[in-house]
Amino acid sequence: MIYLDNNATTAVDKKVYEEMLPYLYDEYANPSSMYDFAKKPASAIREARVKVRDFFGAKDEKEIFFTSCGSESANMAIKGVLNCNKEKHHIITTKVEHPCVLNTYKWFEKQGYKVDYIGVNAHGELDVEELKEKLDKDTALVSVMWANNETGVVHPVEEIAEYVKSNSPDTRVFVDGVQAAGKIPMNVKDTLIDMVGISGHKFHAPKGIGALYVKPDVRLTPLINGGHQERGMRAGTENVPYIAGMGKAAELALDNMTYELTEVKRLRDKLESGILKNVFNARLNTSISGRVPNTTNIGFEYVEGELILLHLSDIGVCASSGSACTSGSLEPSHVLRAMGIPFTALHGSIRFSLSRYTKESDIDYVIEKMPIIMDKLTKISPFQTELAELKKRKGF
Ligand code: PLP
Repeated sequence: MIYLDNNATTAVDKKVYEEMLPYLYDEYANPSSMYDFAKKPASAIREARVKVRDFFGAKDEKEIFFTSCGSESANMAIKGVLNCNKEKHHIITTKVEHPCVLNTYKWFEKQGYKVDYIGVNAHGELDVEELKEKLDKDTALVSVMWANNETGVVHPVEEIAEYVKSNSPDTRVFVDGVQAAGKIPMNVKDTLIDMVGISGHKFHAPKGIGALYVKPDVRLTPLINGGHQERGMRAGTENVPYIAGMGKAAELALDNMTYELTEVKRLRDKLESGILKNVFNARLNTSISGRVPNTTNIGFEYVEGELILLHLSDIGVCASSGSACTSGSLEPSHVLRAMGIPFTALHGSIRFSLSRYTKESDIDYVIEKMPIIMDKLTKISPFQTELAELKKRKGF
């Protein structure tokens, strides 16, 4: 099996798994209890918080709150700050956010908020000028994802935060960092971003654990009320094994950052150029630069994405068309639509996303098989005239 769907989820690192094991069985004490038996789980949480602080590049571990996933982190940030600022009723976000962010804003629209959705260009790059124009005194929150899950395009969130803070200091800035985490350095302490959400299962921790970074001066209401856990900001007995696991995953991700930025990128670039060179109906849906190192999104003109995925699956290759949450439906991805990807490639766009476990032989295999699959699929496409023209134009 060749797994090239790491933006959907990643394999749990063996070291992460081993870190978690004691807390799943032997060390089961409630970390809030007073007796000695609770000391080990309590200290596992403390250590994980320090590791996640370093992963974010934050100043203090008090700025880190553990959550259950990226979606919860986003909801906690968005609902938390808007609840604390009832005077302002304007939100700025982008058309290409993940559904956990977009649908939260749809909900706020129903509560009477005005939400501006900023567009992207044909390469998936945000129209920062449009965002700047929309910012006004009534803007409570600006919310821009760090990296897009479907295209890997990195948005200039540091620059956006600086602009927001110098023009409207009490507007809050939330960044969905789920697809940036473990792929590019974050260093939040050097930025003016107020809150960043991450999700463990995108960087080799298990599913069901996330975190939210919150700058100390940001006031939030909790999403889950109850006990004192997470300094009263997220009630519920802590998920000790998963927290310990995400701490380890964060440490490993930092250790592997250089590898990610060089070797994973080299393999991604090899896969991309190999496909673009050998497959006449392939087009890159983004520009070459300005992306996280592991992701490529390639449009195969005049063929159906679902068919490509089935053929890839038949030869043991896992990839994706659109995000995992929208795949399974035949609706083209909202991200590719916002980019204005031509109709001819919209339905046949495939995301390949690598990880530090991707091998050179995986990439060679996909490069070898892709022209064979596409040969079959283009033969059954109803667009024979267009395909023949395309083949001629591209000199195949
Ligand atoms: N944000 C982005 C950009 C994502 O890609 C995802 C998951 O695919 C999420 C948020 C949601 O994360 P989770 O599945 O942990 O809720």
